[in-house]
Amino acid sequence: MGRTYATSGTTVLGAFDPLDAIADVCQRHGLWLHVDAAWGGSVLLSQTHRHLLDGIQRADSVAWNPHKLLAAGLQCSALLLQDTSNLLKRCHGFQANYLFQQDKFYDVALDTGDKVVQCGRHVDCLKLWLMWKAQGGQGLEQRIDQAFALARYLVEEIKKREGFELVMEPEFVNVCFWFVPPSLRGKQASPHYSQRLSQVAPVLKERMVKEGSMMIGYQPHGTHGNFFRMVVANPTLTCADIDFLLNELERLGQDL
Ligand SMILES: *Cc1c(COP(=O)(O)O)cnc(C)c1O
Repeated sequence: MGRTYATSGTTVLGAFDPLDAIADVCQRHGLWLHVDAAWGGSVLLSQTHRHLLDGIQRADSVAWNPHKLLAAGLQCSALLLQDTSNLLKRCHGFQANYLFQQDKFYDVALDTGDKVVQCGRHVDCLKLWLMWKAQGGQGLEQRIDQAFALARYLVEEIKKREGFELVMEPEFVNVCFWFVPPSLRGKQASPHYSQRLSQVAPVLKERMVKEGSMMIGYQPHGTHGNFFRMVVANPTLTCADIDFLLNELERLGQDL
């Protein structure tokens, strides 16, 4: 069977593929549709934002990492399958009779040992279950909605300030932007502008790490030189932290 991969929440830009349209193509050609929702899958818990994953119910398999946006203790990864024919057991079952006895006093269908990839490792789903019980669906939804709202706050602040430039309007909580230092402002037309702008993020990163004040990732992407990627996901972040982040970048980069 052919396979197609789609992504819900790409790592750098936080982009969501149009799943319904992709599922239509897969249906027409009999392809297995796998959705990498490692990063964006948690958005399903938000009534407000879950439309970003419309069509995911048509996927054959979905990967989701609750340890990312939901902040479940590392690590907590789920593989969700449409299949009801015990596919995992058929793939991974080893029938190791030195480990997994079938003649026990209870229903051995409840045993996980011979069905999963993990075998003797942590039962990741227990962490998710406990967190869900403790926070409730509404508590988790609130975290997601708050992350979106705070990312929006960051975007609006970036637009207000001289020296900050968005890479694109974010769909998700990845806010990608350049800090344009004083010496490069208004010089977009000058030769080597992109090259020089690309050198800014690594210098600022070194400075923030040495100061011990922040940790923000940066990377190039496609034709774009290095830009910062602020992932607004920590549920304890506030607007004051976002203000600090922008002020600190201005302070660290004022002589560049
Ligand atoms: C984090 C991430 C992964 C990696 O997930 P692992 O469970 O660590 O393998 C894959 N895809 C996307 C889009 C991610 O953001």
